[in-house]
Amino acid sequence: MTFLKLNNDVEMPQLGLGVYKVPSEDIDRSVKHALEVGYRAIDTATFYENEEAIGKVLNETKTNREDIFITTKVWNSDQGYDNTIKAFHESLKKLGVDYIDLYLIHWPCPDIDLYVETYKALEKLYADGLVKAIGVSNFNIEHLERLLKECTVVPTVNQVECHPYLQQKELKTFCEKHNIKVEAWAPLARGEVFTEEIIKNLANKYNKTPAQVVLRWHIQEGTIVIPKSVTPSRISENFDIFDFELSRDDMNDIAKLNQGKRLGREPNDMNMK
Ligand code: NAD
Repeated sequence: MTFLKLNNDVEMPQLGLGVYKVPSEDIDRSVKHALEVGYRAIDTATFYENEEAIGKVLNETKTNREDIFITTKVWNSDQGYDNTIKAFHESLKKLGVDYIDLYLIHWPCPDIDLYVETYKALEKLYADGLVKAIGVSNFNIEHLERLLKECTVVPTVNQVECHPYLQQKELKTFCEKHNIKVEAWAPLARGEVFTEEIIKNLANKYNKTPAQVVLRWHIQEGTIVIPKSVTPSRISENFDIFDFELSRDDMNDIAKLNQGKRLGREPNDMNMK
């Protein structure tokens, strides 16, 4: 397993478990299995309504709290300075912890226009030591530029939709220039890319599965990945990607799959409360 150093020197596991749409009753089994096979990062959000179930696992596991990297996110309807501070404390309580490793703004919601104020609340939580790192999710370059201009702390991470069909090259270049790590949500394109000949051939060549090839591509791109699964064998499979390396030519072949295809919303179109 590899770790990436964020711009404030915090070390973040490059691979974590995503838990979007994982019902609370499935959290116990899947998160415990993930911890057993070596995962040390969990990506949740207030919106996923499973923070409490994750808190229960954190309370029961023998793995030390400081060895588990927890990300959660402030939801759109909680944006604004005071609301964000309040939402953060609710997340802390539900997770049963006294700090969060990474706290993100879930979506910029430009029509609501509260993300600068919301980010200032994240800066306050960071200054108070309640969160080890702060960042954003679904921010386009124009949203990041505004934060860089109007706020003080450079976001450590921008979590965005990213997979072989949507490779986010321009955004990645911008983030690299500003020392912001890109974290891929839907890293597997929810399985849609597995039927591509290029991916199937590479899986044969390296004696790996299509999911492992795609995750390995992300790792070699320097991207953080948080694949989601509730199936124990797949959780294990998705973690078993650190014993092979795709060649430069094979990386270039995967690059050819880019078609700017989104599975989720374009960030400017998400203003849902
Ligand atoms: P994903 O690309 O991780 O796909 C998950 C799906 O792929 C699973 O439901 C399963 O059907 C399949 N899968 C997983 N492992 C597999 C394997 N080894 N073999 C075959 N099929 C496999 O998509 P996702 O869940 O949307 O994204 C991952 C995580 O990203 C989420 O759980 C969540 O934590 C985060 N996320 C964040 C945002 C955001 O707005 N910030 C949005 C969506 C997701």
